[in-house]
Amino acid sequence: MLLNSLVELDRAHLVHPVASYRGHEKAGVRVLASAKGARVKEAGGHELIDGFAGLWCVNAGYGQEKIVEAATRQLRELPYATGYFGLGSEPAIRLASELADRAPGDLNHVYFTLGGSDAVDSTVRFIRYYFHAIGKPEKDQFISVMNGYHGSSTVGAGLTALPAFHAGFGLPFDWQHKIPSHYSYRNPVGTEPQAIIEASVAALRAKVEEIGPERVAAFYVEPIQGSGGVLVPPDGWVKAMRETCRELDILFVADEVITGFGRTGPLFACEDEGIVPDLMTVAKGLTSGYCPMGAVLLSDRIYDAIADGAGLTAVGHGYTYSAHPVSAAVGLACLDLYENGLLENGRRAGERLMAGLHSLADHPLVGEVRGRGMLAAVELVTDKAKKTPLPASAEPAKRVFDRAWDNGLVVRAFPTGVLGYAPPLCATDADIDGIIERTKMTLDQTL
Ligand code: PLP
Repeated sequence: MLLNSLVELDRAHLVHPVASYRGHEKAGVRVLASAKGARVKEAGGHELIDGFAGLWCVNAGYGQEKIVEAATRQLRELPYATGYFGLGSEPAIRLASELADRAPGDLNHVYFTLGGSDAVDSTVRFIRYYFHAIGKPEKDQFISVMNGYHGSSTVGAGLTALPAFHAGFGLPFDWQHKIPSHYSYRNPVGTEPQAIIEASVAALRAKVEEIGPERVAAFYVEPIQGSGGVLVPPDGWVKAMRETCRELDILFVADEVITGFGRTGPLFACEDEGIVPDLMTVAKGLTSGYCPMGAVLLSDRIYDAIADGAGLTAVGHGYTYSAHPVSAAVGLACLDLYENGLLENGRRAGERLMAGLHSLADHPLVGEVRGRGMLAAVELVTDKAKKTPLPASAEPAKRVFDRAWDNGLVVRAFPTGVLGYAPPLCATDADIDGIIERTKMTLDQTL
């Protein structure tokens, strides 16, 4: 089909996620046609380095034949199997077992979803079921962190603490509460790590006290806040929050939808601080975007309480496509690739990426460079000394995104003036160097 016709059809019919609908109609869609490794090609031939792995999900990179073969084989043999009626499929059972083997501590029980939002949604349902099962049904209040993102489902959007996901919807989220972010570049308590950790611990304690400790069910954390602008907490922050939750008798949920599967170095970012959450969500890198899939991992304690509480009654939570065999086969192939070279390559490439981005720190537009592994950000400012942010609107970010695109680089440009990086773990030295050069070129043109 001719590109112009596609653009017209898109304008007329396709509703895009998190977009200004009128703005998008005006700009028109950019159609991606093919991809290999860390490179994507637009219809028309323009080639770019994908510095953002699609939507921080194509961790394995594009064109991985082993994944394609696994999916094709599964499509031929058994394209669908429900988990209802006591049924199952080999890849789903094997993937659950492989994940349980690798997940921290006793996160031994895996519930598969279609992505991250419904994984978060499912945690809320499991947690409510758990507290009913153990005779504490009054625990129905949830806490998350400002600048956090936990998906776009009706419930998850409430835990998400980014204004765009609330404004204009008018949905009541009065059972979902927030504490300030650890955002160290712009933190009222300053940049000193210990002060930031203490402030967060104190804020969580105060929030629990305000709500009533007997009412609070769980606290949600991204080990690194992604959509809030790649906000990396000080070392020790995640551990301190985990321990505070244990003390306060509230569940700790680690949302590893972005940070999982090698994004920060290890398979899961919780390993960075040696912590074991009560529940963990994953998606994105689980299948590297080749097929939709997410998962909730439940600790023995949570799973057993739910199972015992329900007895022989069905736990009424399920999706038609839970534990989809094709997605599970893809997940198994991804795990195999991660453990046979990709995690290692990602760690090496991550060091090169961080070093390269730090080499831009003196650029007049760069306020801060931060990140861990293959998850990084450059925060742009108009005045370095005063940390003056870019004007708060989507327009400057869009201009930077467009310039980078023309320079052959896909980078996430947040409306807050932050550039986000999450390249595929398969990125070569040339890919990483290209990301840095093209970023510099883009910044120079933006001056
Ligand atoms: N949780 C986190 C931390 C995420 O970053 C995202 C998506 O970016 C989600 C949940 C939602 O995942 P999905 O977009 O697959 O529904």
